[in-house]
Amino acid sequence: MIRFENVTKKYDNDSVAVDHLNLNIEDGEFFVFIGPSGCGKTTTLKMINRLIPLTTGTIYINEKRISDYDIHELRYDIGYVLQQIALFPHMTIAENIAIVPELKKWDKQKIYERTTELLEMVGLDPALYRDRKPKELSGGEQQRVGVVRALAADPSIILMDEPFSALDPISRQKLQQDISELQKKIKKNHCFCYS
Ligand code: ADP
Ligand code: MG
Repeated sequence: MIRFENVTKKYDNDSVAVDHLNLNIEDGEFFVFIGPSGCGKTTTLKMINRLIPLTTGTIYINEKRISDYDIHELRYDIGYVLQQIALFPHMTIAENIAIVPELKKWDKQKIYERTTELLEMVGLDPALYRDRKPKELSGGEQQRVGVVRALAADPSIILMDEPFSALDPISRQKLQQDISELQKKIKKNHCFCYS
């Protein structure tokens, strides 16, 4: 489903961040990049959704080059969880989760039902949490929202860049278990990339 063909990324300062990377990630596969800081994990993830342009080589999604996709079509079908908790502070929890569904112009009722379902999925009572602002949540709770926000519009691909690194060990372990269960529950052809 995702294929890297001789992908190289050189930044302006000429440092080679990714060097002739070849790999296949199958539908439904849970793929994890492991390596020391600075080895190119974030760069690799961000090239998939075109946040970072490749220097040479090709990335295919479903055998179509990513450069041939309309950028919105590509991004709307890829959920992305950032390393740092990155909720919009002025928006409520429900509004944060609904960003992509809103962009896709889902109707209000469908958005309401989806945000309810997602909050329940990660153990946050919608009645209590939907209208809160991010600062009224703990770090672990915010990162849970970051994860379900990436799932909101049911993308085919989910990229997670060290989604647990900002968490304390207990929240981290709990969220790791939850995501592993989520992946089993979501039986569509999701492809999870972790770094
Ligand atoms: P990781 O996520 O594995 O820690 P990164 O992909 O962030 O690694 O970085 C890989 C290499 O590319 C590092 O040497 C880093 O310094 C360099 N790098 C990352 N982003 C930039 C940038 N915007 N400009 C120049 N060099 C960068
Ligand atoms: Mg990184």
